[in-house]
This record gives sequence, structure tokens and C-alpha cells, in this order.
Amino acid sequence: MTTSRGIPAEEAQKALSEDLDHVWHPLLQHKTLRENPPLLMVAGHGATVVDAEGREYIDAFAGLWCVNVGYGRTEIAEAAYEQLRKLAYYPHTQANVPAALLADRVSRLAGMEHTYFVNSGSEANEAAFKLARQYHKNRGQPERYKIIGRYYAYHGTTLATLAAGGLPERRVKYEPMPDGFLHAPPAYCYRCPFGQKYPSCGLACARYIEYMIEAEGPETVAAIVMEPIQSGVGVLVPPDEYLPTVAEIARRHGVLLIIDEVINGFGRTGRWFAHQHYGIRPDLMAVAKGISSGYLPLAATLATDEVFQGFLGDPAEGRHAMQVNTWGGHAGACAAALKNIELMEREDLVGNAERVGAHLIAGLRSLSHHRWFGEVRGKGLLAALELVEDPDTRRPLAGALLNRIAAACQARGVIVGKYAGWSASGVGTGTALLFSPPLVLTREEADRIVAVVDEALREVGG
Ligand code: PMP
Repeated sequence: MTTSRGIPAEEAQKALSEDLDHVWHPLLQHKTLRENPPLLMVAGHGATVVDAEGREYIDAFAGLWCVNVGYGRTEIAEAAYEQLRKLAYYPHTQANVPAALLADRVSRLAGMEHTYFVNSGSEANEAAFKLARQYHKNRGQPERYKIIGRYYAYHGTTLATLAAGGLPERRVKYEPMPDGFLHAPPAYCYRCPFGQKYPSCGLACARYIEYMIEAEGPETVAAIVMEPIQSGVGVLVPPDEYLPTVAEIARRHGVLLIIDEVINGFGRTGRWFAHQHYGIRPDLMAVAKGISSGYLPLAATLATDEVFQGFLGDPAEGRHAMQVNTWGGHAGACAAALKNIELMEREDLVGNAERVGAHLIAGLRSLSHHRWFGEVRGKGLLAALELVEDPDTRRPLAGALLNRIAAACQARGVIVGKYAGWSASGVGTGTALLFSPPLVLTREEADRIVAVVDEALREVGG
């Protein structure tokens, strides 16, 4: 681990003590947080973050899968500064210059004509659900309200997005969930919900969606929502025909296809958007994270012109979208996002994600000699190493061991993501180390990540 400048020790102690007294952190148990306090991060450059004591870490998780352009980008800070000085914000019931330019830029990258701005991935999916339902109502099919998601998917933290997602550990404490959300099994070949093998399975997981639509009554189904690559539970890369099959089923039944590119989008998988690997076109698409690489919060729901047309009519008919959020199209955030995209293009970070991602995935696969090695899955700079107690039974490695492996990586200067499933049996989900580094990652940094994971696995697993 190399070191660079942190901040003075008294300043760091004061900040951490105030944090522990007053900040309520997500997903952490505060009762034990004082013994094991969070890292106090103070700086970053490229794929590296720096803590208060000046220790450097390769951030193999890019914050929360989001700092695609890397840390310390002065040009983005300057673009935001210029815009904040001129006009930070004005409500998006009027127009502003950066939002207009960004909508044009994003629409062209995605091949979808219309951009509805929101502030987070959760809101982007929630807006997509609402727009899908209203689209059908506007077209005289008010009974089309059901939304089909997938088990073990994550689409956000609001009640409707939790309902569309299928992560029991995130849902149970907040039940009852809103009505109208159904779940299909994920495309998870390593733990096939149908106990089959690809390709002899005939894509049972995709076909099951048609079974659901038929059984529910196609005239009651508004939309299907899915990530191209289901990220959170271990980067589930589907067979190539999966997404085209689902898209064709949706189209045939008049059901809209909502693609969640909150993690997958903005170069993460080696394409601007992951669905572009599979030659499909969503009707609605949620983006967040990489749109601004976290420099300022921003997200959006994109729609095709066909969907947009469904909202046109005489103003008195009330066909227009009936939702608004205060910060939507925030001028400063849009200016940061525009510069972020410009840097990604100028430096070919999407191409870098494809090339260095292939190198990282090959490196992770070379760890197959470890006794806990299950499978490596990934595309571009989005990857997972699934860990099992025993490769024959595929019983997931215990979460406590996963935590120790991640901690051993951190102690060696690499921050990784992790997922330990709800079910210890491994019927539904497994245990995985997750990788989603900034797209500026170099081959040498990828090698370092692999070497550190190798050492951590040896330290914890023997
Ligand atoms: N969709 C996916 C696939 C996500 O991973 C996330 C967050 N990690 C969200 C939606 C929600 O985004 P946010 O946290 O910005 O609300």
C-alpha cells in the first residue's frame, strides 16, 4: 500500500467522532461501528482513493459502482463551478442549457429520443413504472398495471422499486410491498432455478416470462423490468439470446420493456449501454451512477419516441406526465454530466472498459485453483467471483468468511464489493466478490487487484 497526503490527525478525529455521533449510515450496525469505524475518505485520483491517514486504495468498486470516469477530475469540477456561478438551478418545468445539451447527448448515445431527468436510480426506475402505467392508461388500456421484475434483482430503495426488485433481505422489514409487482426467476445459469443446463434448457427462464404473462392475462401487464446483466447478487451475465427472447415476448404481448442500466450503463460493460451487446431496444431505460460518475447526483429515465407519443394530446385531456421532482434537470449536475461524457469519449473509456475488463476477468479466472473458487462472470469492467464452500455442492461460502476476505483485500489496499445471499442453501443466490472499478483502470491495476484477491483468499482460506 502506498501513501500520499491525508488530512491532519485532529481534523480526522473530529470528523469521525462527529460522524459516529450524528450520521446514520445505511446498511451498517451502529452498535459496533465504534470498534470498526468507516474509512474516512478525503481524496482520490484515477482509480485510487485516499483515506484521512494518507493510505491509498485501488477502488475496485468505484464507490458504489458509479465513479466511471475516475476520481479527481478537475475539468468536471470546473464545468460544474462555471454553471453553478451562472445559474445553479431552475425548476425543470422550464428549460436550461446543460439539461438540453445533455438530453441530446444521452439520447443519441442510447438511440432513444426522450430524456426525463430525476435524481437517483431508484427514482429513474420508479418514474419508468409510472410512465409505463400511464402510457397504457393514455392508450385506453387502464387495466395494464402489473410489472414483472425478477427474483433477487435490485432496482432501488423506494417501496415500488423494492417491490419490483426481488431481494428478500431488503424487502421484509418494510412490508407490505405495493401491489402489482410479480417476479420471474433470474437468468442464473450457475444456480439455474429450473435445475437445467444451457443450452439444452431452451432458455426456460425467459420462456417462463411468457408463461406468467399468459397466466396473468396479457391485458393486465404493463411492463417487464430488468438489468441486462443482473449486477448486485453476483453479475449474472445471461446467455446471448436471453434478452432478445424477453424483448420479443414483451413486444408480442404489448408489454413495455424497461431496461435498468443504472449500473450497466455509461460504459461499464464495454458498450455505452449493456443492452447494446444484445441488439435490443428498450421502450424505457433507467440510468444514474455513471451518467455523472458521482460528481453530482443525477439520473434519468429515457423513452423511445413511440412511448413519448402516447403522452401527446389536447392539454385538457391530461395525457402529459403527472410527476415532477424539484431537482430534475439540475443545471449544475447536468453540466458535470456533460463533461463526464465528454471525457469518457475523449479517452475512449468504453473501449478501455472492454479491453482492461477482459484482462481483469481472465486474471480472476486464473484463481480457479483456490478451494473456494466457484465461477467468474463478467463483461467489461463489471465482474464477480462467486465463492463456494465446495465446488461440487455449490453451497455458498459463509458471509462471515466473505467479510474477512474483503477486509483482507482492504488491508492490502484494494476495495472490493461483496454480496452474501439470503439463503445459505444456495438454491437462490450465492456469495460473491464484486468488481466494478473506474473505467480508467490500467492493466497493472487490474493485475494488482487479482494479486490482492489471490493473497486474501490464501490468508483466509489457507
Ligand atoms: N438499479 C440498480 C440496478 C442499482 O444497482 C441501484 C443502486 N445500486 C439502483 C437501481 C438504485 O439507484 P440509487 O441508489 O441511485 O437510487
